[in-house]
Amino acid sequence: MFDNLTQRLGKVLTNLRGQGRLTDENIKETMREVRMALLEADVALPVVREFIDQVKRKATGEEVMKSLTPGQTLIKIVNDELIHVMGEANEALDLAAQPPAVILMAGLQGSGKTTSVAKLARWLLQQGKKKISVVSCDVYRPAAIDQLATLARDVGVDFIPSSGDEKPLNIAQRAVKEAAKGFAEVLIVDTAGRLHVDEQMMGEIKQLHQTLDPVETLFVVDSMTGQDAANTAKAFNDALPLTGVILTKADGDARGGAALSIRQITGKPIKFIGVGEKTDALEAFHPDRIASRILGMGDVLSLVEEVGRKVDQEKATQLAKKLQKGKGFDLEDFKEQMLQMANMGGMSGLLDKLPGMGEIPDHVKNQVNDKEIGRLIAIINSMTPHERSFPAVIKGSRKRRIAAGSGTQVQDVNKLLKQFMQMQKMMKKMKGGGMKKMMKGMAGRFPGGGMPPGGGGFPF
Ligand code: GDP
Ligand code: MG
Repeated sequence: MFDNLTQRLGKVLTNLRGQGRLTDENIKETMREVRMALLEADVALPVVREFIDQVKRKATGEEVMKSLTPGQTLIKIVNDELIHVMGEANEALDLAAQPPAVILMAGLQGSGKTTSVAKLARWLLQQGKKKISVVSCDVYRPAAIDQLATLARDVGVDFIPSSGDEKPLNIAQRAVKEAAKGFAEVLIVDTAGRLHVDEQMMGEIKQLHQTLDPVETLFVVDSMTGQDAANTAKAFNDALPLTGVILTKADGDARGGAALSIRQITGKPIKFIGVGEKTDALEAFHPDRIASRILGMGDVLSLVEEVGRKVDQEKATQLAKKLQKGKGFDLEDFKEQMLQMANMGGMSGLLDKLPGMGEIPDHVKNQVNDKEIGRLIAIINSMTPHERSFPAVIKGSRKRRIAAGSGTQVQDVNKLLKQFMQMQKMMKKMKGGGMKKMMKGMAGRFPGGGMPPGGGGFPF
């Protein structure tokens, strides 16, 4: 995500880091390059201008010129300004309304509306909403209604049927009634999009908006369209009062122009970003986290949240209890951790969010990691239950059998046992007060008060 911009800005700011002092000269030079980087990222021109003006103004302030680490100070100014253009803080959904709280989705065809309806439904379920209904007003393409039906079934929310013979407005009215009858807390309404902004579509969505009186009207837009995303958002916002934006396909966007332009151009906050095709690929949009991702400082907070969301809380608690009781951490537990890691999109997905990883090419990241997890799991699968519980019995001939069974070499088995032993040592250390303290600390940070397996002790 935003890799090109990260690389460009990274280079500019690294050059500066080497310089002892900020001078008018090097500020000017640096800002010229930052400007180029932003333009290449397809950030809208007025946003670029404002950005550069602000950074220049702050950078030439007296304190900065005198500061001991001018390079870092400028990086901080750039970071703060990135956060500022993206809207400072995450703006959450506001669903305070007589149920069902209606969320209306608007946007061009192919922007990711239907997918986002499912993602949002899933996200709301995870936030503790119990009953969510979805409905499609896209009567122009029968496949669109089926698509939503399938997605709704996948994420486990109520699907209110509709058909191509009905008028969108009728569907909307009927859906509100049905959702209310079924005691839905939230009703998400999917709509049809066109390839371009046209009058008929705008007329229809305006009518839907009037009829539904939604608490949230979210504009869904493809981030790959760069600054055009901001312009289309503006056109929609002129026609109906948007409450926020969902920026989709950020996973495939190397440039970041849409993320940086939308807020300034429309005045409306980006509330979520879509980061993949699957229904769990939705993240709350946090300007500060995105800024540090862009500056290559990683996004540790999102990572922590993701871990909290995706680990199997029940298994994590089981393991914690087992360890607390003084029972040892065995190979079965180790395998469980590997599986959970694979579950989170593997190491490469996680690594992307860690600081400094922006510069490591994808093929290298992928290579080191996900294969390795699969291999470790295969090796443990080739062990008997007794061996998994008592790894000390794994000696020469057992090692050869396990290696043969998992299609690996004896040295791979040795490596796994070594990694396991390190992990076990760590677990032992945490067993006493450390473990409890760690759990307490984590409880506040993870939704549901859970913790990652083994108190966050992944083997890396
Ligand atoms: P709609 O016409 O606005 O309803 O768009 P859809 O929801 O049908 O999505 C269009 C295409 O974009 C589908 O192939 C989706 O899988 C894909 N898509 C949607 N959101 C994302 C995302 O965040 N990342 C990626 N990579 N693909 C997405
Ligand atoms: Mg659709």
